[in-house]
Amino acid sequence: MIVILKAHAEQNKIEALTEQIRQQGVSIHYSQGQTETIIGLVGDTTHVDEDWLRANEIVADVRRVSEPYKLVNRRFHPEDTHITVAGRTIGEGSFSVIAGPCSVETEEQIISVARSVKASGAAFLRGGAFKPRTSPYSFQGLEGEGLRLLKIARKVTGLPIVTEIMSENQLDDFADVDVIQVGARNMQNFRLLKELGHSRKPILLKRGLSSTMEELFMSAEYIMAGGNDNVILCERGIRTFEKMIRNNLDISAVPIIKAKSHLPVIIDPSHAAGIAWMVEPLARTAVAAGADGLMIEVHNDPSKALCDGAQSLNPQQFDHLMGDIRRRVAFEEKTLEGQ
Ligand code: PEP
Ligand code: MN
Repeated sequence: MIVILKAHAEQNKIEALTEQIRQQGVSIHYSQGQTETIIGLVGDTTHVDEDWLRANEIVADVRRVSEPYKLVNRRFHPEDTHITVAGRTIGEGSFSVIAGPCSVETEEQIISVARSVKASGAAFLRGGAFKPRTSPYSFQGLEGEGLRLLKIARKVTGLPIVTEIMSENQLDDFADVDVIQVGARNMQNFRLLKELGHSRKPILLKRGLSSTMEELFMSAEYIMAGGNDNVILCERGIRTFEKMIRNNLDISAVPIIKAKSHLPVIIDPSHAAGIAWMVEPLARTAVAAGADGLMIEVHNDPSKALCDGAQSLNPQQFDHLMGDIRRRVAFEEKTLEGQ
């Protein structure tokens, strides 16, 4: 981090500032140029608050040269992280597909979808029990009953389950869930992220609708700072000016995550597309870009779905998608997890 001082800053104020910076555990490299005085902060600057520096009367500008996230950063952890869940691996040369309905609706529905996605090659079953809906009048999920039905579907099919948590108060209810999803709307629910940091559960962290990559990394950093290294990142589309797609799938998130972080990344083309016919072409890009997997919404009868029916594939469409993905994954010399 570099601190540029205002011209004519008084020496006693410079000394006071450098002493305060040193007290934060970083060393100082002082450089007096002809027109500018610059203080270089050397060491771990993740705890140094840029705004605190900017508020100082002798500071003209502050620039970060290294990223503010450390645990998520590939620089300090060059090897790829892979996460093992119920005997399945996410990352490390395997490609994992998580599939299932947006919401758990009935026992018959979740078992039927679980059976069909398993037969098509999905490695995990998804299904929302607690739904973050834009309208308070929309279906909010079956809540505790939804979790119970998901566990029945897991028992019937053997597929590990992925479901969304909305609040830290629900952690006990999620103790038996295989992967806890943090939805786009909760990506910056910092209290929730901190509590998930104290758990050892794998966390699927979805990127917020309008979040930058750095904000996504900082949210993952919250979980990892608590001691939980089992974080999977998920790109699910971001808001742009474009109206012909629900959210723009930011496929560049994959190479950025692979370059900047060691964490695995999966793509959710369903919430990006918002419409079923666009899901398969977007899903293909995930393999080509080097993602570690996909999350796909599948419903036994999308026209009757209580949530996100328009973007849900029916079992036949999902089976077609999996055939295509299987060939592409084999071409990339990866393993389709769960096969
Ligand atoms: C979901 O996975 O059903 C969901 C609500 O996703 P997102 O948080 O990405 O909108
Ligand atoms: Mn959904």
